[in-house]
Amino acid sequence: MSKLNDIRFFQVKPAIYYGIGAIEQVGNHDFKQVCIVTDEGMVKFGLLKMLTDVLDKHNIKYHVFSDVEPDPSTEIVEKGLTHILMEKPDALIALGGGSAIDSAKAIIYYCYNFKKMFFEEDYIKKPYFIAMPTTAGTGSEVTEYAVITDKKNNTKIPLTDILMMPDAAILEPKLIESVPPASTAATGMDVLTHAVEAYVSTNNNPFSRCYAAKAAELVFKSLYECYVNGGNLEAKASMQIASCMAGIAFNSAGLGITHSIAHAVGAQWHLPHGLANAIGLPYVVRFNGQCGRAQHLYNRLLSAIGIPNVSGDAAEMLYNSIVTLCKEINIPTSLKEQGIDEADFKASKDIIIGKAMKDVCTQTNPLSPTREQFSELLDQ
Ligand code: NAD
Repeated sequence: MSKLNDIRFFQVKPAIYYGIGAIEQVGNHDFKQVCIVTDEGMVKFGLLKMLTDVLDKHNIKYHVFSDVEPDPSTEIVEKGLTHILMEKPDALIALGGGSAIDSAKAIIYYCYNFKKMFFEEDYIKKPYFIAMPTTAGTGSEVTEYAVITDKKNNTKIPLTDILMMPDAAILEPKLIESVPPASTAATGMDVLTHAVEAYVSTNNNPFSRCYAAKAAELVFKSLYECYVNGGNLEAKASMQIASCMAGIAFNSAGLGITHSIAHAVGAQWHLPHGLANAIGLPYVVRFNGQCGRAQHLYNRLLSAIGIPNVSGDAAEMLYNSIVTLCKEINIPTSLKEQGIDEADFKASKDIIIGKAMKDVCTQTNPLSPTREQFSELLDQ
């Protein structure tokens, strides 16, 4: 508990536009040249066209960089960087899931932290940065973080800089209508993991708890409906807001060891980030339940979500609720069930534990696990 005279800081930076038609807001800016950072999925599902139609209507010129891949690599960021340096846009729009948004962020990070290396004198102004998430998952549209993959070493590199915080986030429900059920499930569980981990993080605060609790409540209300009925835009809009709120919460409070493990496991076996989180979250909640402070906070979280703590063990109640939700949306309950080979698992385990112990998210987990405890969590 912080003391009254401990000065702390909480910031919500981007302007957030949300609701059906929010995409039209792009046209309300006086942009001359826009660079769009996106992936091929956005072209295939017609989402890029939704954006370029608005730009065309307002006679705004654009250039498209659509080479982003899931879990973007340093090579993709380098390639994107050359496009930005060539085009010199006054606005950068990231259209896609966490991978496209993180790529755009990393491009900005390298551009402007090393601008003296890249720019002539007259081009040092940072473009206006708009993030348009097409998944309800990462919350990357409201965070100052980006995760880039070093493919050679199978490692995820976390970048942190307020420079990467978008100026505006546009939450257009129509952009997430086409997400297939399995991705809806995985990215939705990413939201829940952000909310639960931020709520009990050692850096939690009244603001972050408020956003995290509301986000968790919305996930329990809407994720199943989004999974079984992808056309329900009301439920999808609700998940989009949950994702954004959970992002605001963890941007301030930090995360926990579900993420530390997911980063290491995701880089090793190329598992989708949300899925890796979803598999680990219930076991981490149960593990953290050994800590009195975490129990107390889980109890408050359950009551905010509206789940009665009938057993008196809040961590166990939350564990059961998460496992039930995972079963309903067909999330596997272990790495083995996900198809990770037993021999490969054994061979990689030590490397994964080493990476998870060093991960920045471990610092804000309510308990600091030993090597053996990390090993037990991985075995589950
Ligand atoms: P993603 O961006 O990797 O996309 C996964 C796939 O889904 C892609 O093939 C994409 O084309 C497709 N897709 C996206 N939107 C779609 C839509 N509307 N319809 C159809 N297909 C669509 O997935 P993600 O889970 O959003 O992002 C994961 C990445 O985000 C990871 O690299 C992870 O490390 C990172 N991440 C970042 C933060 C942060 O704060 N910066 C937080 C969590 C995760």
